[in-house]
Amino acid sequence: MTTLAAPTPTHLKEDPWEMARSQLRRVAELIELDDAMLNVLSECKKAVVVSIPTRMDGGGVEVFEGFRVNHNVARGPSKGGIRYHPGVTLEETKALAMWMTWKCALMGLPFGGAKGAVVCDPKSMSLGELERMTRRYTTEIINQIGPEMDIPAPDVGTSPREMAWIFDTYSMNKGYSVLGVVTGKPLQVGGSLGRVEATARGAAFVMREALRKLDQPVRGRRIAIQGFGNVGRNLAKILAGDGALIAALSDSAGGVLNAAGIDVDSAIAHKAEHGVLSGLPGTEPVTNDELVLVDCDVLAPCALEHSLTAENADRVKAAIVVEGANGPVTPAADMILEDRGVLVLPDVLANAGGVVVSYFEWVQGLQEYFWKESEVNAKLNDIVTGAFAETWRLHEERSVSLREAAYALAVGRVAEATTTRGLYP
Ligand code: GLU
Repeated sequence: MTTLAAPTPTHLKEDPWEMARSQLRRVAELIELDDAMLNVLSECKKAVVVSIPTRMDGGGVEVFEGFRVNHNVARGPSKGGIRYHPGVTLEETKALAMWMTWKCALMGLPFGGAKGAVVCDPKSMSLGELERMTRRYTTEIINQIGPEMDIPAPDVGTSPREMAWIFDTYSMNKGYSVLGVVTGKPLQVGGSLGRVEATARGAAFVMREALRKLDQPVRGRRIAIQGFGNVGRNLAKILAGDGALIAALSDSAGGVLNAAGIDVDSAIAHKAEHGVLSGLPGTEPVTNDELVLVDCDVLAPCALEHSLTAENADRVKAAIVVEGANGPVTPAADMILEDRGVLVLPDVLANAGGVVVSYFEWVQGLQEYFWKESEVNAKLNDIVTGAFAETWRLHEERSVSLREAAYALAVGRVAEATTTRGLYP
């Protein structure tokens, strides 16, 4: 047996768990949360660390490290994706789980927050290796997940394909199909129409509402999008369809720029053919560091955490930042952007479309009754724009940032549920 070498250098520029807790402390003051409640919400309910021995194609065995963290279940079963990334850490997974609690509460979903992760580089693994690793990871956390307990979904590095393996592994162990155990499944096995595009669609709805507040239409706005995974790619498609001008795009290898607008279909075709966006005809190359500083109206960081920090936030040219990723703006960057009058649409609001349609998928699975895509999208619009309106109202009433307003609403709801249920025993 061999153990994996040390993980690759991390994208994390500071401790994400400390960042999540400091955001919570800030809002605790704002809503006058008592210390006992702050202490409860500052910790994760449960964090499981597992080892995942996996047969590799060469015949050897590698042992991957995996996590599943439940932050809070006061409002319902915990919900959150599973991340496959070589730099992912337990601390990061805890922060992501906490953010899921706030996101679900802000959207009014009957869920708490969770997150899972496996330290691996999915891009360098074969299909067979990924499947064996995913099935073994599922088996290792099988007592932690379930439709009434904790419901995983895709995140960075995972997709409907992995969700199908998780669904199958769990179901084979139970002896019958359990549709509600995981969301983001392929349509053939109980997925929901509209789930794949849901995170991007939610971000586009929130962006449209924010622009409306500034009396600007989406049409003609210049957009820069960092990240070309499920969120960045679909956001580019949706916004281009709405008449926006896509000025810059990037993937983990680098970015492309064309101030006159990038044709998104050509970018998708180029990425499919070459594996990277770089070299897209008619564009200039930019690095990921440069992309967040390009001239545009809206910047959408849709990759990983910490794209905007105290180092670069003073040079952001966009008027609006839409957090398609989780945690792309550090608290120090938040303050700089706020001082400069840049409107930051926080992750718990801007990228919540994914978990909202996950909720719809869970409901459809439990009822074994599936909805039309137009119904899914209309209900998504209702929930996301409703949450935007509530957040905006508090942002104006209390003169606080949208992040603080969103957190105040979310944390308040979780605290209320905790108080109403009472402390066991
Ligand atoms: N991973 C996504 C997120 O961060 C989706 C989670 C879910 O659908 O449960 O919101």
